[in-house]
Amino acid sequence: MTLVVQKYGGTSVGSAERIKAVAQRLIARKTNGDQLVVVVSAMGDTTDDLVELAAQMTDRPEAREMDLLLSTGEIVSSTLLSMALKHEGHPAVALSGAQAGIGTDTRYGRARILKVDPARVHRELDAGNIVIVAGFQGITEEMELTTLGRGGSDTTAVALAAALKARCEIYTDVEGIYTADPRICPDAQKLAEISYEEMLELATWGARVMHNRAVELASLYNVPIYVASSFVEAPGTLIHGGPMMEQSNKVMGIASDTDVARITIRGVPDQPGIAATIFEPLGENAISVDTIVQNASVERLTDMTFTVSRSDLAKAMDLVRPLAEKIGAPEAMADTHLAKVSIVGAGMTSATGYAGRMFKTLFDAGINIELITTSEIRITCLIDEKDIPTAVRALHKAFQVEQAA
Ligand code: ADP
Ligand code: ASP
Ligand code: MG
Repeated sequence: MTLVVQKYGGTSVGSAERIKAVAQRLIARKTNGDQLVVVVSAMGDTTDDLVELAAQMTDRPEAREMDLLLSTGEIVSSTLLSMALKHEGHPAVALSGAQAGIGTDTRYGRARILKVDPARVHRELDAGNIVIVAGFQGITEEMELTTLGRGGSDTTAVALAAALKARCEIYTDVEGIYTADPRICPDAQKLAEISYEEMLELATWGARVMHNRAVELASLYNVPIYVASSFVEAPGTLIHGGPMMEQSNKVMGIASDTDVARITIRGVPDQPGIAATIFEPLGENAISVDTIVQNASVERLTDMTFTVSRSDLAKAMDLVRPLAEKIGAPEAMADTHLAKVSIVGAGMTSATGYAGRMFKTLFDAGINIELITTSEIRITCLIDEKDIPTAVRALHKAFQVEQAA
């Protein structure tokens, strides 16, 4: 008997019909002799709808209540799936994240899992149940409910698989991990396998098919993740840490992310300690800053530019405006028309010329680059949001990513 943790995303449980279809898949798998723990996302656009409803009440919802609100989406889908299974005569039980033993820190909206206590899940499995767990949520030591960040149900699944020493399977609305988002790039190819480090870069820089924390956890606990479709029977992608069948020295994938807001502080005095004055308060308020550029100073004044996610922009500007005033900078501005496009590939460490080729490709496509940032295995350009589809397709072609599969 194999213990399997499966996860079904929002589209996969998007309607009563879809939930019943998932129930049938689970029954078939259980009949085959496997033990199942099943993590579900909220149905369809439920989480977006809840965010939107909260916005109608206030533009600054309290983080604690926002998490309590958002955690309800996954409670709905998990209980409905359990009911569907029992209706078909199969013992099942629905558990909230808290009931399933998911313990987190107190960072509302982006809580990290600190520990998983699998005792209850084991008990329910021993009693013969298919155990359905509400994804994306946990509980703090002070018994407050938290959420793990958008897309966080993937992380619930990996954390449970690690704690239960189970197989981990993520079922979604595409057939696996592709060389680019197949909805943007028709040439994108499904990959048979991809390394943790490449998947982590793709996920962190916009490939929302996997939550980046899930990949981080999987790599830490060495849990291979199998990603496949919940709609059709087709081979998926294995994300793992072992040797790759085909060592590729190419670009493995292209990611894009439109959740970018840019903040520019003009006329910053060029003095030691100024950067800390600006960025420490942002860090203390859990706002992550991912691209920072300080222009060369002219007459001891410089411009400081950095990016945050759009959902953090209001909070970031609330902090930045008084800080700018304090350090004597005349102006702090924000804009939200930019987006990131990245090329990722482990082979980039040992080869040269990738950056030049990327810039040339974007230039030839008539796309202006506003900022550039790199890691060992990634190059990212900030460009106009409206240019993203053209950029992804042009880069996919230029790097012949389609041959990587
Ligand atoms: P789920 O609700 O199942 O968690 P998501 O919407 O979070 O699904 O993620 C699946 C989506 O991720 C796909 O529909 C696809 O548009 C998008 N995506 C982005 N990049 C990739 C990629 N490289 N490979 C596959 N899908 C991708
Ligand atoms: N429902 C949450 C979201 O939409 C979590 C998830 O789907 O993984 O972000
Ligand atoms: Mg997702």
